[in-house]
Amino acid sequence: MFEELRIAEPIKYALSKAVSEKKISHAYLFYGGDEQTVEKVAWAFAAGCVCTSEQPPCGVCAHCRKAAQKAHADIIVLRSDEASIKISHIRQMQYEISLMPYEAEKKVYIVYQADSMQKPAQNSLLKLLEEPNEYAIIILLAQSKSGFYPTVLSRCQVYDFGPAAMDVHTRQLTVSFFESILQGDMKDSLAKSATLAGEDLDQVTKCIVSFLRDALLYQKQQGNVSTLLINSENEKLIHKIARRYGGEQIQKTLDFIFDSRLSTSTNSQLFMQAVYCLLSAR
Ligand SMILES: [Zn+2]
Repeated sequence: MFEELRIAEPIKYALSKAVSEKKISHAYLFYGGDEQTVEKVAWAFAAGCVCTSEQPPCGVCAHCRKAAQKAHADIIVLRSDEASIKISHIRQMQYEISLMPYEAEKKVYIVYQADSMQKPAQNSLLKLLEEPNEYAIIILLAQSKSGFYPTVLSRCQVYDFGPAAMDVHTRQLTVSFFESILQGDMKDSLAKSATLAGEDLDQVTKCIVSFLRDALLYQKQQGNVSTLLINSENEKLIHKIARRYGGEQIQKTLDFIFDSRLSTSTNSQLFMQAVYCLLSAR
């Protein structure tokens, strides 16, 4: 299962070795790289942790099949609906980890956007990492490791998947789209939304979502977030977006984007026009 993934060979080797020799650590941090690829790595690794065959992950046993469908009872996802992972999320995880696995020998937690974790949540996570139990494995997924406490990092096996693969060209277009909306230039913003609609929609939504997510974080932390931002080099723009929109308007836009991404029949021009409307509403 690792073979087909386009990641660095040393990482492939280390992760395969860990599962095949059953020398699995209690905590991992996977950061950087292409988000979707790293997510696949996390799931393949989680499958390897619960797989019972000689060569995990075998891809064919009941555990692997359930993992492939993201339906294994002992592979649990932690993903915050809000801008960041809070202490309450970690407490919930702590409680669930205290329960024995249901069907496998291990219980794996995959924590998405772990770098959005605030300090109290990290302290709580640290306690969890300091007192590991024999069956729990935590995989933290993040864009960067700079927002984590060194004490948290020291308890994790850290894997760097390389620079985040956000397309530079799309990102530039997204920046000028936001700037145009913020300046209130309707004609120009519509033209830019049409240009974005002609690009790879997956990349475009990834960029827009990352800016909105940064703005939400900025609002909640009152600006004290540079190390947590995905688009830290565009901090000024993030600041402007955070000032212009209420949290509710950003959330509404994010909800719309996620709902549209689920449907395969999305018309990219209409989609971008709708995003424009949501962002230009006062
Ligand atoms: Zn298997």
